Amino acid sequence: MKHSGLRKPFVLSALCAAMLLPGLSAWAVTDQQILDDVKTTDEIVTNGMGLQGQRYSPLDTLNTDNVKDLRPVWAMSFGGEKQRGQQAQPLIKDGVMYVTASYSRVYAVDARTGRELWQYDARLPDDIRPCCDVINRGVALYGDLVIFGTLDAKLVALNKDTGKVVWRKNVADHKAGYSITAAPLVINGKLITGVSGGEFGVVGKIEAYDPKNGELLWTRPTVEGHMGYVYKDGKAVEHGITGGEAGKTWPGDLWKTGGAAPWLGGYYDPETNQLLFGTGNPAPWNSHLRPGDNLYSSSRLALNPDDGTIKWHFQTTPHDGWDYDGVNELISFNYQEGGKTIKAAATADRNGFFYVLDRTNGKFIRGFPFVDKITWAKGLDKDGRPLYDDANRPGAPGGATKGNSVFVAPAFLGAKNWMPMAYSQDTGLFYVPSNEWGMDIWNEDIAYKKGAAYLGSGFTIKPLNEDYIGVLRAIDPKTGKEVWRQKNFAPLWGGVMTTKGNLVFTGNPEGFLQAFNAKTGEKVWEFQTGSGVLGSPVTWEMDGEQYLSVLSGWGGAVPLWGGEVAKRVKNFNQGGMLWTFKLPKDLVAKQ
Ligand code: CA
Repeated sequence: MKHSGLRKPFVLSALCAAMLLPGLSAWAVTDQQILDDVKTTDEIVTNGMGLQGQRYSPLDTLNTDNVKDLRPVWAMSFGGEKQRGQQAQPLIKDGVMYVTASYSRVYAVDARTGRELWQYDARLPDDIRPCCDVINRGVALYGDLVIFGTLDAKLVALNKDTGKVVWRKNVADHKAGYSITAAPLVINGKLITGVSGGEFGVVGKIEAYDPKNGELLWTRPTVEGHMGYVYKDGKAVEHGITGGEAGKTWPGDLWKTGGAAPWLGGYYDPETNQLLFGTGNPAPWNSHLRPGDNLYSSSRLALNPDDGTIKWHFQTTPHDGWDYDGVNELISFNYQEGGKTIKAAATADRNGFFYVLDRTNGKFIRGFPFVDKITWAKGLDKDGRPLYDDANRPGAPGGATKGNSVFVAPAFLGAKNWMPMAYSQDTGLFYVPSNEWGMDIWNEDIAYKKGAAYLGSGFTIKPLNEDYIGVLRAIDPKTGKEVWRQKNFAPLWGGVMTTKGNLVFTGNPEGFLQAFNAKTGEKVWEFQTGSGVLGSPVTWEMDGEQYLSVLSGWGGAVPLWGGEVAKRVKNFNQGGMLWTFKLPKDLVAKQ
């Protein structure tokens, strides 16, 4: 009976847990823990390190004075031949890390040692249609489940101890171009997901599921004209809000294949009880085929989490003709002005403008460029609508002839793409990973065909400067002022995190995880991870020490779509590693 010595305490602790929380194990992630994630420092149970997605940690054990002593404690390989873009943010609960890797894989890892506890590989069909690499951006935790979306557009819930499938649900038809790459979000007992597929003329949608069993609770298509539904006891009930009139902002039947995919998922603001999501490009890219604003493409949406009703929308690029997806995160934050608290939300759009909105109603407060060169628009009007430069909209094709090619900045990969910015509650600044590039773009004729690319455009991305493309910027949302910048040779493609220790962390495609002084922008630490850093760093406290983790693994959209930029980065190494760092206790004590 070798194991008897181990068994007794296990039984005892299980009994204690049962006494504390009848019907739940002590581990179970609750709605309250998810709401509290923004202030708890010993676990990370949301994508965004808090439901508002500020990616701010109140930890200051690690700070600008001692960050030089931050050192790796373990690294774990995702293994296999599947070394492609790693864009996830780890979650951590009770000393276990849950993280996704490329090709729809999930890992549970002992956060103290890096030992793998289990691995789940989704069995993907051969005909998946990911537009922009086989990436994934992370899991959601709820109860005893680890839940994520797959490249063949399924939600999968795994048991947190075994990695075994508890339920699996088809969200959409991957043969029509749908996939899921974003981390789902759990709020008040509802699991919320978006879908990808705007390059295939899908109909974007945001949906809520019961996280316990995967039952559909509501669906909200994001192309005007499509009906939303609420489901009760498995039956669809037509809902009062239709989501607009069919054909009003779209010509003919184009709303039936309108794109507007909310592929980056979203966040939740507890103060206004709203889901805040963004939507991608209208389909096809060739804008001459679809006169009108093409709602709700390239927009930010506030939704009622109970039924998916759209409470307000703000369209950053009406009638988009440059693939300026409006998916980028809309981050809730409050600031003081004229003795009042302004409930604001900010977003740095692919189109090059930074927007500050009133998040109670979606009204435009202010907007300003956050990159050096914007040519598609001359500015924004008082409501935040772009003032187009018609000369820089690619021309209409004439039959077999392609339309006028124009050179436009930013490039379609965006002044900022998917990689999340961070907001510091101490400095009041946003830390924005941006890129300076432009493109030649032209239009071609195109017809919709299920599952085929539906662009009607051709393009070549070009750098604007010899020595850099990426720029990490500190931006004051109250003034539009750029407080500092740090240039990077390759385009930035990784998430940002900031901490009370006056630090900003992000990685670059060259393989460095870097730390900057949040106030001055001075680089204070870096570490070479062996491959490009595209993941979003996190920090937490365990056994009285401050830890930090990030994924390393080059890939993503840039090498696939980057044109002349892709040539610049073609020698960067692929990878697939999960790195964990800490500031050793004895070094903290010495100071
Ligand atoms: Ca797009």
